[in-house]
Amino acid sequence: MPSYTGTIRCSHCWTSGHNKRKCPRLTGQIKETYESQTRIADRYRNRELDHKLARQCATEAGVAESRAWNVNYHETRAEEARKQYLKRMKIDLATGKKVTNKAAKAERMKSVTCGYCKDRGHTRRVCPAVKEDYRVYKALSEKYKQAAYAKLQELNINIGSMVFARRWVSGEYINAMYLVTAFDMRNVDYHTQDAPCVKVTSPQGHGDHWLSVKQMANQIEEGKAHASASPLVLAPGALDAVKLIKEAFPTSDERQYCYGRYGHDDAVNETRKALGIPTPL
Ligand SMILES: [Zn+2]
Ligand SMILES: [Zn+2]
Repeated sequence: MPSYTGTIRCSHCWTSGHNKRKCPRLTGQIKETYESQTRIADRYRNRELDHKLARQCATEAGVAESRAWNVNYHETRAEEARKQYLKRMKIDLATGKKVTNKAAKAERMKSVTCGYCKDRGHTRRVCPAVKEDYRVYKALSEKYKQAAYAKLQELNINIGSMVFARRWVSGEYINAMYLVTAFDMRNVDYHTQDAPCVKVTSPQGHGDHWLSVKQMANQIEEGKAHASASPLVLAPGALDAVKLIKEAFPTSDERQYCYGRYGHDDAVNETRKALGIPTPL
């Protein structure tokens, strides 16, 4: 924060003239942390501190386990400090060498974990597993769209089919009538197999709703929907619409669902085989 005199003051050491990001004292402390944590990890690894552990652990195995835990703990602290120092000074404390921006990025990428397949070294955006799974997704989604279409035909649901729903209108429940006005199969996919795809509209002005095939089937079974006389024939291409990879596997923070890598159920495995995609380990 700039002060009234226009100079900046460091929130770490309270000296004016630099901020925390450039603080030489903090930079020095990070270097010290790296060096001391590395030293302690080495001492544990070289069994120099086994006598200390023996006071807490009754058995050899207990000492070994505690030693390993401590090595890992202090190495992790040292690694954190190394990364902080690298970011501030562009110098790798492990080698003492200056690193280029390109090398620094490669270093960061090494420690990045893919949010999709959990492998290291790449992000979800460029994940090869997402691309493979998307091919499986498209093939399976086509089947679910076909199945939903077949069910709609079987139920004789068409434009103009009537659906009744209890609605609270002007202080009382009425059986409001809706008419089927549109179909959209785009959202029926492998991820949402029973997605809403039938649009119903109230001629009395109670608004629109989207119902799934299952909901329509239930309504008919309960006598709350009237089948049409003629079976549904969707326009050519109505089943071809498929979500884009970024829609089916969204990467943004606003995503509703976070899909992990496809597993090993029969449908997925069969589709992988048909598409020539190797089965992941
Ligand atoms: Zn400072
Ligand atoms: Zn990945």
